[in-house]
Amino acid sequence: MTTIGILGLQGAVREHVQAVEQCGAQAVVVKSVEQLTGLDGLILPGGESTAMRRLLDKYEMIEPLKEFAAKGKPLFGTCAGLILLAKEIDGSDQVHLGLMDIAVERNSFGRQRDSFEAEIAIAGVADSMNAVFIRAPHITEAGENVEILAKYDGRIVAAREGYLLGCSFHPELTDDYRFTQYFLDMVNAAKEDFSQEKVAIDTS
Ligand code: GLN
Repeated sequence: MTTIGILGLQGAVREHVQAVEQCGAQAVVVKSVEQLTGLDGLILPGGESTAMRRLLDKYEMIEPLKEFAAKGKPLFGTCAGLILLAKEIDGSDQVHLGLMDIAVERNSFGRQRDSFEAEIAIAGVADSMNAVFIRAPHITEAGENVEILAKYDGRIVAAREGYLLGCSFHPELTDDYRFTQYFLDMVNAAKEDFSQEKVAIDTS
């Protein structure tokens, strides 16, 4: 069984648990470093990135999360979670996990569109999918190894770099779980890579 952690310090946690379970995997709400053990992948939910950062510092989770990613375990950042993953935040010298080679702008869709829904196409996932944006960031720059998966209004709203996946919107807030399933497929591919590496080491 594939086990996915959902960082449960703040934000839209319960909806991600449901989305993961609907895709047939086991979901664990993660509130401490110890709970990272045994996970195959981790979702960083939406909420408020500055509040999440304070809690990540309080529970000393920044370094362990970087180590988790360094082991080749996939991470999926949604909305505030995308901001946590980014190597750069426009207009700020603060970086949180700094794992994904992207720059993001926070709250970038303007006040009058604090919250909205839109139909978007996501490469490899859906020709048309309803996406919920809530005070959403967007990706302003992406490094050469970053694959752009979706744009809305000319702005990048979903991307992937190796085993890191991020989006501006909240895929867990509709009952269309195709993007969560895409992450689970990534996690299963990573598991496969991992076990092949182990075999290679064992037989050498
Ligand atoms: N605006 C929030 C931030 O900057 C993100 C909003 C969200 O996650 N829905 O962290």
